Amino acid sequence: MSPRRPHILVLTFPLQGHIAPALRLARRLLAAAPDVLVTFSTAGAAHRLMFPARPTEQGGGGAEDDARLEFLPFSDGTEAGDFRSSSADADAGLFNAKMASFHAAGARGVAGVLDALAARGRPVTRVVYTLLLPWAAGVARDRGVPSALYWIQPAAVFAIYHHYFHGHAAGVVAEHRHDRSFVVELPGLSPQTIGDLPSYLTDSTDPSDAFHSIFTTIRDLIESLGKERPRATVLVNTCQELEVGALAAVGAHDVLPVGPVLPSGDDEAGIFEHDDAKYMEWLDAQPASSVVYVSFGSVSTMARELLDELLRGLEESGRPYLCVVRKDIKAALGEAEAAEMVGDRLRNGVAVEWCDQARVLSHAAVGCFVTHCGWNSVLESVASGVPMVCVPRVSDQRMNAQLVVREWRAGVRARVDGGGVLRAAEVRRCVDEVMGSSEAAAEVRRMAGEWKRVVAEATGKGGSSERNLAAFVDGARSDF
Ligand code: UDP
Repeated sequence: MSPRRPHILVLTFPLQGHIAPALRLARRLLAAAPDVLVTFSTAGAAHRLMFPARPTEQGGGGAEDDARLEFLPFSDGTEAGDFRSSSADADAGLFNAKMASFHAAGARGVAGVLDALAARGRPVTRVVYTLLLPWAAGVARDRGVPSALYWIQPAAVFAIYHHYFHGHAAGVVAEHRHDRSFVVELPGLSPQTIGDLPSYLTDSTDPSDAFHSIFTTIRDLIESLGKERPRATVLVNTCQELEVGALAAVGAHDVLPVGPVLPSGDDEAGIFEHDDAKYMEWLDAQPASSVVYVSFGSVSTMARELLDELLRGLEESGRPYLCVVRKDIKAALGEAEAAEMVGDRLRNGVAVEWCDQARVLSHAAVGCFVTHCGWNSVLESVASGVPMVCVPRVSDQRMNAQLVVREWRAGVRARVDGGGVLRAAEVRRCVDEVMGSSEAAAEVRRMAGEWKRVVAEATGKGGSSERNLAAFVDGARSDF
């Protein structure tokens, strides 16, 4: 079979935490070989949010970079593809119903994209899909196109799901799910407590639970990987050096660490409007490594009490801070309350509704990141050498925090009180433990700097992740 021009279709679930690493991967693939073509595709609603100023018949986007990168939405039929308001506190039934309709229509939509590209003489040679699209491999297989899962959480979390859905520990987890400190053993992994497992395995296994649809989606995904022949390919947004043990724990698949994928300097399209860039001017005026940057990601909610304690702790730390309080969080608080919370009472810091986080983290003034530990946030922080105060909540965040604190020693974990609330005094203590003058704080900062160097090497020319990416693109030249 003669080699074909590699054309990779990158499919992503329509959430910011999925779109960002998918778009970054798309750009890395493009850079891996001069002839590779990439089509980036997410659900119509998210696509229109990404490209509001460039409407076309397909809903915006279009092509760039001499048409080597093209943005083409897939229809999810029902417009269910805007998941931004489906946060932990939202109506569980509604979220689960939205997921069900998204799955049914999304598979048809993606089949349409594959057919349309083939009809235009741009046949896809590989499909790459993010973790909440368990049907993508089947759609690709039906058209004879090999696919790869793009895992956008740590390899450790993939290993946990892999073993859990292959019968390891499922009974133990079910029996002890309310005992957060109960220790679970999984093949090849260091022992984990119930409290550090992905929350979907402990909190969402019952059909009436919030996010039960995520539990079943991930189960379907892991099962579908088992059907791939010869072996499923899994690209992971991590690098060999960050997760040696966990990567070795999933031998059943071809697991290729290709990350951390980071912004390439191109303008990054996303589904949130940026605040004007005044915060960059503010950052420019702050001393080196003095600022605490605070963000809980793109979907986490923030109850009034949490925000109040957080801001008080930051004020009491006496350090300058930049805190993201998203528009939807403000809306949930109510206009008057939000104005009071993030208005004049802020003396040492500023609040924004959204910022260019990767740019903020790489600014010389930033010395600490108070984070919910979404995997993208963790990787962006590691790549910038910024030590973290970890405030994990759901999904993979508790495991991610463990990697930061226990394995990499590049941050500290904030403790919540008996009622599950993070108190102001704890915020202050943790910020001090990272930015203060103690030896322990200096060591945390040193480790953060060390990991920055390791990650730069892995993703740089000839690095482990770069070689894996090049091998994957090379594979996309052949049919199988
Ligand atoms: N982000 C951003 N500006 C903000 C807050 C978040 O650009 O003000 C980006 C952040 O850089 C990251 C993504 O949103 O790439 C959030 O992904 P993550 O995995 O950290 O958390 P999630 O939102 O999925 O919980």
